[in-house]
Amino acid sequence: MLRLKKIVKDYLVADTKVHALKGIDLSFRRNEFVSILGPSGCGKTTLLNIVGGLDKYTSGDLYINGRSTKEFKDRDWDVYRNHRIGFIFQSYNLIPHQTILGNVELALTIAGLSKEERIKKAKKAIDRVGLEGQYYKKPNQLSGGQCQRVAIARALVNEPEILLADEPTGALDTVTSVQIMDLIKEISKEKLVIMVTHNPDLAEQYSSRIVRLLDGQVLSDSNPYSELFESDDKSPAEEDEIKEVKENKPELKEDKKKKEKAKMSLWTAFKLSARNLLSKRGRTILTCFAGSIGIIGVSAVLAVSSGVKGYIKSMQDDMLSGNPITIREQALDISGVMANMTPAQKAEVIKEAGKVNVEFLINQLLEQYETIGKITVNNTITEDYIDYIKALSSEYAACVTLDYGLDMTYSIYTDFTPSSSEGVTPQTYGRSLSSIRTNYASVLSHVEGLANYSSFIINLVECFKQAPNNVEYIESQYNILSGKIASEKNEVMIVLDKDSQMTDLVLAELGYFTQDDFVDICIQAKENPKSDHANIKNKFTYEEILGKTFRWYPNDAIVEKNTDMTNPMVSYNYLYDESMIDEEGLELKVVGILEPKESISYGCLTTGFYYTEALTHYALEKNIESEFAKYIAKQPNMTLSSGSTTNSMTNTKMHYGVTYTYEYVFDGGAPIEAIGYLGNESMISSMMGMLGGSGLGGSMGGAKNSSYSISLRQAGGNDVANSVSIYPVNFELKNGVTDYLDAWNGDGDIVIGDKVITKSEREKITYTDSVGLIITMVNTLINIITYALIAFTALSLVVSCVMIAIITYVSVMERVKEIGVIRSLGGRKKDVSHLFNAETFIIGFSSGIFGVGITYLIQTIANAIIGYFSGIYTIADLPIDQALIMIALSIILTCISGLIPAKSAAKKDPVVALRTE
Ligand code: ADP
Ligand code: MG
Repeated sequence: MLRLKKIVKDYLVADTKVHALKGIDLSFRRNEFVSILGPSGCGKTTLLNIVGGLDKYTSGDLYINGRSTKEFKDRDWDVYRNHRIGFIFQSYNLIPHQTILGNVELALTIAGLSKEERIKKAKKAIDRVGLEGQYYKKPNQLSGGQCQRVAIARALVNEPEILLADEPTGALDTVTSVQIMDLIKEISKEKLVIMVTHNPDLAEQYSSRIVRLLDGQVLSDSNPYSELFESDDKSPAEEDEIKEVKENKPELKEDKKKKEKAKMSLWTAFKLSARNLLSKRGRTILTCFAGSIGIIGVSAVLAVSSGVKGYIKSMQDDMLSGNPITIREQALDISGVMANMTPAQKAEVIKEAGKVNVEFLINQLLEQYETIGKITVNNTITEDYIDYIKALSSEYAACVTLDYGLDMTYSIYTDFTPSSSEGVTPQTYGRSLSSIRTNYASVLSHVEGLANYSSFIINLVECFKQAPNNVEYIESQYNILSGKIASEKNEVMIVLDKDSQMTDLVLAELGYFTQDDFVDICIQAKENPKSDHANIKNKFTYEEILGKTFRWYPNDAIVEKNTDMTNPMVSYNYLYDESMIDEEGLELKVVGILEPKESISYGCLTTGFYYTEALTHYALEKNIESEFAKYIAKQPNMTLSSGSTTNSMTNTKMHYGVTYTYEYVFDGGAPIEAIGYLGNESMISSMMGMLGGSGLGGSMGGAKNSSYSISLRQAGGNDVANSVSIYPVNFELKNGVTDYLDAWNGDGDIVIGDKVITKSEREKITYTDSVGLIITMVNTLINIITYALIAFTALSLVVSCVMIAIITYVSVMERVKEIGVIRSLGGRKKDVSHLFNAETFIIGFSSGIFGVGITYLIQTIANAIIGYFSGIYTIADLPIDQALIMIALSIILTCISGLIPAKSAAKKDPVVALRTE
């Protein structure tokens, strides 16, 4: 059934040929026990390996059942080994990390049998070699004889036709050798056994035929057999065999069936690898840990990035309520500024590697400075546009606030006590809010160290503002501490800050503080900023504030045409004194006290007083036809002068009307009465100059700075809004608003009600979406930082990969023997590479899981700590999809790093692998 015809095997060792076999002619019967004897190095193992299909002959031919193997492919050899051949080695070659059962199962595993079938067959084979019940022992728990029994069981389990044994008793003592030989003898009754040995006694005693080799050639053959050429004494069985071959039945049907099955499933590869990894637990854990470091680094960066983005996102709606989308007559086209520097220009700045081109940078900055004028856009807000805004769907905009540029502070009056000295009674509605403020500012400017505070009050603080006209929107952001939300024209509400406090200035505008009190507070605050000067604040109760009244007067009640011809430049006098006001005015009542909700950091209202849109409309209605407004409207456009340079601001279309000074009282000094002036700005300047020159000196110098001019808009002389604030419902719906606003600048016709506005009738309007801009900028920044950090941490990923490649390589080196065994059992090259790829896959997967797990752990701890100190509990938040991507990345990277070692493992020559000790 096996025939070797002129088999020659040469090995090439460093350019010289070693002739291991020099033309062997041998034929084997289906059933016999052949011993091959010969001195060491004569080519016995080589011959056996060629017969077993482990090694390829150089020339000649090997016939299996009459079929030449010249055309055999790798796959055919694999099938041949797996199904027809059983190998037994001198050194057993058991896989140490597998149980006895596992070792025996291996050949079946490679054949791709089902688990039950495998276990059944393997147990049967183990029982047959006399090792019943030892299935789950590991090879290192067995004696040498037992190990060889396991090896025999493994060789037999696939029911091969040929058993090849390479010095099976070489490592065993005599007694054990005899037992093993008995076993092999028994097997030879039904199979062809070819045994290599250098023990002639054993050969004589057990085998039915002895072939002696010397120096790669057959020296003698005790029972030669020639299936085709020789006709001398043949048994009937032999006759059959010859007939079979002659009838040209090279392959048995059985073979074809088996062939298809000769493969190990990937899943089996996984299980085998997992078992190997488990047997080296310590190393596996270390490898996974090392592999996970890079993953932890990158995941941590991603976690922080998405945590911060999430935090910003959570603040978006909140920020939006404090920073609505606005449209003003003058706006900065910030996108213009941002786009100002082209990437080429940026590159220019750092053109010379490592050196910043300072000159270019300065030129660039100068250029940008010059273009500031260009990026200032002037919006012409028309009635059409206002109508368009009013038609904005409430689906997107929670509320729209129109601003007409009104200044309520000069027309709202309250009680005020200039000095707390005894006998001074509060003046009922004695002062306008602006004059109280100016008064404080002025007094403070004379207190050492508080001059800056004084200009701060004048310039920045605006305490009487119009609330958005949407009660629900306000309610969604504010708690009502007392009373209700103002909704009528004669209703005002007070908004406190988060600690339910009001700023001193708000209190001052309530008329609560006398001038002296206020100065005291300011001094205290300056000297001891930490102190809450609680003694003053705590005096308030909500009841006291609720019900507090102010009075609003129309223009014509509070200014009066100048009839005093000694002051010919003054056209209007501004009245402080109630006694000078004839008209009744409108009484405003504080109806509610609000406080921002806990979750709100930027509500639509800041601390201060809020009046209603209804009051705005009422004021416009009353003032638009006022004599005073008409007078201001007649004034020419202004050119403001300062020093020698003249900045033309003719575009602003501002009409300045009345200017007034104020009355102020120094500590202990006599009150200085100053009259109100009116005119345009240049007249006032000259007026101030005159006053300065007339001996009032420095004090009136201050007065000049504090002079107050009223524009047409401030006086309520224009009822087309000049500024619009749109509060989107939330950040997601903001796009709906901006799309709507963009449509105005688009090409299509705009339809509002029955009216159609064509493109030519519209002027471009630039809106400011500061939150959108900030969020975009911040997110871009976070992205840049994230990428940079990932680039850095990715280095550790690279290190991990290299390490895993090395570890896999070491593992390959360690398991060369195992690779040889698998190959000798018919395992394909693919099976071997599958095995190692499965191993790296498991390591990659575990590293990924481990890394992501650790990241989540660190994240939880970090969030708890950071949250404890800052109140922000989600500064790191690794999204689940990114975590999965990181695990996938870990698998992919480790698999890539394991690819080369796995490939090299698959390429290992099984003969060399098995020879390796
Ligand atoms: P035996 O098993 O009879 O001791 P071998 O078959 O192992 O002998 O070796 C036969 C000859 O072939 C020896 O000279 C050995 O050095 C040589 N040989 C075997 N395998 C290789 C190999 N892979 N490369 C080079 N020479 C080899
Ligand atoms: Mg040998």
